[in-house]
Amino acid sequence: MKTIETFDFKKKKALIRVDFNVPLNSDFVITDDNRMRAAMPTVKKILSSGGSVILMSHLGRPKSGYEEKFSLKHLVKHLSKLSGAPVKFATDCIGNIPLELAKNLKPGEILLLENLRFHKEEEKGNEEFAGELAALADVYVNDAFGTAHRAHASTAIVAKFFPENKMFGYLIGSELESMDKVLKDSTSPFTAIMGGAKVSDKILIIENLLDRVDNLVIGGGMTYTFIKAQGGNIGSSICEEDKLDMALDLIRKAKEKNVRLILPVDNIVADKFDANASVQEAPIDQVPEGWLGLDIGKESIKEISEVIRQSKTILWNGPMGVFEMEKFEAGTKSVALAIAEATSKGAFSLIGGGDSVSAINKYKLADKVSYVSTGGGAMLEYMEGKELPGIAAINE
Ligand code: AMP
Repeated sequence: MKTIETFDFKKKKALIRVDFNVPLNSDFVITDDNRMRAAMPTVKKILSSGGSVILMSHLGRPKSGYEEKFSLKHLVKHLSKLSGAPVKFATDCIGNIPLELAKNLKPGEILLLENLRFHKEEEKGNEEFAGELAALADVYVNDAFGTAHRAHASTAIVAKFFPENKMFGYLIGSELESMDKVLKDSTSPFTAIMGGAKVSDKILIIENLLDRVDNLVIGGGMTYTFIKAQGGNIGSSICEEDKLDMALDLIRKAKEKNVRLILPVDNIVADKFDANASVQEAPIDQVPEGWLGLDIGKESIKEISEVIRQSKTILWNGPMGVFEMEKFEAGTKSVALAIAEATSKGAFSLIGGGDSVSAINKYKLADKVSYVSTGGGAMLEYMEGKELPGIAAINE
């Protein structure tokens, strides 16, 4: 298989699917350029190898056709600054406009195409539309991990038109490498820490992980479905009543597979869901009537941190409590710190899924863990053991 390392990009035009879905303020100024930065290693590699680059992306969720606030033209200047290369802009992603610009593109130059989702064919995975994109270039590179779980024209279908010349960019490459390190090549003890609001979102991952982990830590809002299922009093804590049987089933499966399932033993309870709520400590299965558990307690923090510190492979998805509020952030912060500590002692740690990524950034620990995944939904589906269309399209 050709890779970005072995392919000769000299005088070639590379069509790269990137994820430039960045937030813009009301003056169309980029407020967080992380996703653009993440694509730069691939862009720069191809430019410095004598190729030219055609970038395609979506931005936001346009309803039908052009919308000023979702135009990629707002990214041109910053893209030029980040890449250090001249950037041309095509006001449409298909048709004569990009075709002409692509034809005249010189080595070392970038052509940015207008938002793919201004055409409904993109999300429908329309083959003709994909063919028009393909006609612009000699080689296809997918570097948009965040959309790899979608069978869209630019993320999967377009690959068909490049049977020989298709490959992953560096970003997808490193995402796959870190996820596979955890799923297929982990060093024991392997601890997965699952948190967040709902167990229903995480059930498939948990099931897939039960065959792989030594320890499974459950925290956050999903804890209470497990506690209630076992007869505990959870007061007004968040709970999915229709998932009680499933929680018991997971507890049973963990036992069968010799996985140590660690549920919190205590928690911080509040009289309302509010940053200024009155709080007290309580055993996890004795939440007072009308109160709600919003963070794990001291004993749980101690036990969970200890397990993490002794682990050699760590996967963290989902906060331990409502960490957005100071009163309920201790659990999440402690987990983040314990993971950083384990990593400094040689463990491999992968953080993924929107809110644990926000947490690790909030505590400024992103560079103290092994890898922070950029793809929320895509990462979850990969961890569930599913084949992602964007990955399969390159591997086929
Ligand atoms: P998720 O997107 O499922 O990972 O959930 C993340 C959200 O879960 C965060 O916004 C947290 O505030 C929330 N969360 C964590 N613990 C709790 C809890 N005990 N009760 C209610 N919400 C929680």
